[in-house]
Amino acid sequence: MIAAREALERLREGNGRFVSNVRGSAAFLTHSRRAELAAGQEPFAIVLGCSDSRVPAEIVFDQGLGDLFVIRVAGNIVAPSQVGSVEFAAERFGTRLVVVLGHSQCGAILATLEELRRPSERQSRNLRSIVDRVRPSVETLFATHLGDDGDALIREAVRANIRASVDQLRHGSEVLEQLTADGLVVVGAEYSLETGVVDFFDR
Ligand SMILES: [Zn+2]
Repeated sequence: MIAAREALERLREGNGRFVSNVRGSAAFLTHSRRAELAAGQEPFAIVLGCSDSRVPAEIVFDQGLGDLFVIRVAGNIVAPSQVGSVEFAAERFGTRLVVVLGHSQCGAILATLEELRRPSERQSRNLRSIVDRVRPSVETLFATHLGDDGDALIREAVRANIRASVDQLRHGSEVLEQLTADGLVVVGAEYSLETGVVDFFDR
């Protein structure tokens, strides 16, 4: 089992390689590695990230086969199936680090802000289920002075949404709460589309 602190360090280093364009993951994509993993996996981190095509966790953290247990959903929201996926990996594989990875200019946040400005009757029920999960943390910001500043509002809304998902994972699951006593750590992080840098939030 790899401790959360060490797992976090690996992700930081991997992102550093990604940003400086020095890739190390090729070594982990060999046939022998694949054969080894067929017998079992021990991912060192769980990543709940956004589905955005520009933010693939394995690439931005420069990791290979078997390294990350990744759940991706638009807006990195937390619904029961996401919680269940995190519980599964944390229990089954002993993974002790969970990262909620949001990103700048997230489409799910933009769609939610759009919906707050101009509520639409025609939005599909399924898309609405995502917007409804993003809405509470964004709505409070929308009501403040930030509501008048488009860029600042989007920036803060992205971060508020990441924090909300972190809170839901920390407090929305008995299984995960119990594992916290056994070293499980949930952290938020934001990927910058512009620089490629992942900024980990303070706990
Ligand atoms: Zn997104």
